[in-house]
Amino acid sequence: MSIKLLPPDLATKIAAGEVVERPVSVIKELVENSLDSGASQVFVEIAEGGVGQLKVVDDGQGIPAEELELAFQRHATSKLDSQEQLEAVATLGFRGEALPSIASVSRLTMATRTHDSPNGHRLEMQWGEIVRSGPLGCQSGTIVEVWDLFGNMPARRKFLKSNSAESSRVQELVSRYALAFPNVRFQLSVDGRPVLNTPGKGKTRETLLALYGAEVAGAMLEVHGEDLESGYQVDGFISPPSLHRANRSYMTFFVNHRWIQNRMLTFALEEAYHGLLPDKRYPFATINLAMPYGDVDVNSHPTKKEVRFQQEGKVFSTLQKAVRAAVVADSPVPSVDVSRSMPVLGSPYYGSPYPGSPYSRGGTSSFFSPSAFALPQEQPSGPADAAAPRPPAPALKVVGQVKLTYVVAEGPEGMFLVDQHAAHERVLFDQIRSKAAEKSPQSQALLEPVTMELTPSQTDILKANAEFLESYGFQLENFGGNSVLLRSVPGIMVTQNPAQSLLDVLDMVAFEGLLRQQEDILAATIACHSAIRAGKALTEEEMRALLEQLEQADNPHTCPHGRPTMIHFSSINMEREFGRR
Ligand code: ADP
Ligand code: MG
Repeated sequence: MSIKLLPPDLATKIAAGEVVERPVSVIKELVENSLDSGASQVFVEIAEGGVGQLKVVDDGQGIPAEELELAFQRHATSKLDSQEQLEAVATLGFRGEALPSIASVSRLTMATRTHDSPNGHRLEMQWGEIVRSGPLGCQSGTIVEVWDLFGNMPARRKFLKSNSAESSRVQELVSRYALAFPNVRFQLSVDGRPVLNTPGKGKTRETLLALYGAEVAGAMLEVHGEDLESGYQVDGFISPPSLHRANRSYMTFFVNHRWIQNRMLTFALEEAYHGLLPDKRYPFATINLAMPYGDVDVNSHPTKKEVRFQQEGKVFSTLQKAVRAAVVADSPVPSVDVSRSMPVLGSPYYGSPYPGSPYSRGGTSSFFSPSAFALPQEQPSGPADAAAPRPPAPALKVVGQVKLTYVVAEGPEGMFLVDQHAAHERVLFDQIRSKAAEKSPQSQALLEPVTMELTPSQTDILKANAEFLESYGFQLENFGGNSVLLRSVPGIMVTQNPAQSLLDVLDMVAFEGLLRQQEDILAATIACHSAIRAGKALTEEEMRALLEQLEQADNPHTCPHGRPTMIHFSSINMEREFGRR
């Protein structure tokens, strides 16, 4: 085939393919336009999953009649007129692509009136062509109605899900925008049924109430944080550790009120809850990051849902610190009030009643509730805490193993439950660090060196950390480009798949490297990879060795991530529970 320019309608359809993937993408673009127009009310209606019909009504500034047709041309926008502005985008839209794209794959009408014009104007389009246009009596603001989405693209229709699945995506999207813009009143109706209605009075907690009900809205903790140097601000609401969800879809992030998806932010949030949520449970959060427009590149994704930060590290640490402060404020340090820890029927055990006892992690909260692991106060132990006085490790005698996860032990003043993975992590972490400090890393050579193809960003991380990796026992050779040859791994590392372990280490360093001392992260990651897992049966001999090693550890009471390694059930409380006192 010879090279030729595509006809304009085909080019527009191709461009539309990127912007308009399904009904929710149309709603997203239209709602963003409404918000950019300064609307205080945005009403959305959909029928038949939005494929049959959808409508967005706003009370924003409207479009002057003489500009209405222009708005439907590609690259026509009122939001940008210079490259400087592109580098500091303050509006949700800026590409001038949405209206022509939507119009090219649907039948559409737009009715609009500016505040200062006596009447409105209406434009009717079909598959990208103007069918009719003329004056119309209407209130100020803009109404866009779309029918028969992808009616001229049967292939795209085939990729849509059921109407109800498409509708719930729309509902999710409108909910997110309602949270990002608490000043705006949002309504959504699906097939004539109202499903969402927010007050728009500027109070996020009221929006949460309207969206998720009283239990969630009442429990959510307010977050506020600011990095003075960069001026970045974090504001929003997060769930207390007692409220969690089975997946990550309840974590919502906005950057300057733009809803975005970003793995680094998700990670920063989860990290702030480390050790406080049960396994595979996730927090609920809605957080806006405010930063100078020039510090974030919003022009890096076709649907603008991903952004790039100029100072990723700052964003990460500002978010993480703010969330952590809110979570810690909600998880008080174990109380000493013995009378409050009197047993209630069915109540499980309580932590040590002694103030300052190193074993009283559980405090007076219920042991079985996830929040019982009050947030450890120690930071991961690094060189910095070497001088701090530490409570001695108790001498423990093995009694047995529970759930193939915890070692039951008897010690001074009662019973101890030791988390085998956390304890082993601590032991290995200390060993790895001392070997690295002595500059005598232990390496185990691989029988067959592994050639690995890395991504450019993995290669960057590898280069930036090459010396550290070596000082811990990784031996790598650069093969040119993004290929490396992995020759050996740390002596302590027990791994079936050395390449995967290295990738995991790179992943961890990439994220956590922004937060903590590089060396500790590396040691902690290797330790985590090598430590015995929960679910592994241990012999009595193994358990004894573990507890003995733990006794020798620098900081026996927490794992390198700051989770407790053991919980104490004091004799006094056991006696109380059994009514002996
Ligand atoms: P962009 O939002 O990237 O500028 P669009 O194709 O979405 O591009 O919209 C083109 C232009 O039409 C906008 O720049 C804006 O001036 C105008 N417009 C679209 N929707 C609305 C609306 N609801 N209210 C006021 N103006 C609007
Ligand atoms: Mg737009």
